[in-house]
Amino acid sequence: MIHISKPIIGDEEIQAASEVLRSGMLAQGSKVALLEERFAEYCGTKYAVAVNSGTAALHSGLYALGVRPGDEAVTTPFTFLATANAIMMQGAKVVFADISEEDFNIDPTEVEKKITDKTKVILPVDLYGQVYRHEEVDALAKRYHLNILEDACQSIGASQNGVKAGGFGDVAAFSLYATKNIMCGEGGMVVTNDAEIAEKCKMFRHHGQSGESHECEDLGYNYRMTDLAAAIAIEQLKKVDTFNQKRIANATRLSDGLKDIRGVVVPKRGDGNIHVFHQYAIRITPEFKISRDELAERLREKEIGSGVYYRKPLHLHPYFMNMGYRAGDFPVAEKMASEVLSLPVHPGIEPSDIDHIIETIRHYGE
Ligand SMILES: *Cc1c(COP(=O)(O)O)cnc(C)c1O
Repeated sequence: MIHISKPIIGDEEIQAASEVLRSGMLAQGSKVALLEERFAEYCGTKYAVAVNSGTAALHSGLYALGVRPGDEAVTTPFTFLATANAIMMQGAKVVFADISEEDFNIDPTEVEKKITDKTKVILPVDLYGQVYRHEEVDALAKRYHLNILEDACQSIGASQNGVKAGGFGDVAAFSLYATKNIMCGEGGMVVTNDAEIAEKCKMFRHHGQSGESHECEDLGYNYRMTDLAAAIAIEQLKKVDTFNQKRIANATRLSDGLKDIRGVVVPKRGDGNIHVFHQYAIRITPEFKISRDELAERLREKEIGSGVYYRKPLHLHPYFMNMGYRAGDFPVAEKMASEVLSLPVHPGIEPSDIDHIIETIRHYGE
């Protein structure tokens, strides 16, 4: 079976984890501190704060930006649930803005329509491993005095005009979940250039205790990362560029083989972007001979895994529909949800696997 995702774990990760286990110091300690240093250096930001999931990173970032009940956050409906849930964890209102067909990311024109006097932050997602249209969103943030929290959970190592993912907001959140481009099972990172934001995130992950006095200054959570997870993440971080280069090479081979098949739309890369293909998502349009879901089924019969990210835009989940959202509210997101199909692109995929995927899709499409 060619799997849709697979963590690549080498002897280095196993060795690093064993050392931590043998040391008997498992909780947040020197490995977490080292990971924070290296992660910030990699992203080109001044600070990184390790937490125990991407969701915790988003939540901490929103807290540090001062998002509170009564505030509104504008985000995309075409993302993983965590993006919107984190907003609600701070008691704020989720306001969706539709996406663009070109990059599956939030459409700046739609964002502007959703800004009210309650809007506090814009929360764009670098979906599938490609940075959102930063310049236009940033212009809005400046004009309306809003903060930006970049959900970079899928985009470590991606860049736009030479700036790496994580550098496109006041604060950014990464995930180190098992299926991400680099991982440690469960984990997350907040990055920022603002010392105060970094300090607030450190308090927030440790029950609201200030680092100096250990006095509780505000409500916080236990969002600490273990040294065990950090030791694995440090080894993965050393390999991130190699992993991403393999993903990019795999994506290029896939696109070369699929681009002229009727009813298949291959992913586009925006100007100035390095896309790191956390997902390689094609679109199967009505012009294709069989439906998207039928194709997924045929691929499975040929031992090829695939995935639909995301089958439903967030506003069509029951929880959000109860808030008043309806089918038809975000037509582009809804159309993309009905057409996208992610194909295996991870570093464990070989050129021969890719040729097999291409031939199979061509067989059912022509
Ligand atoms: C994975 C992911 C998250 C959440 O990360 P966890 O580590 O699973 O909590 C948030 N947003 C996006 C876009 C993601 O892909």
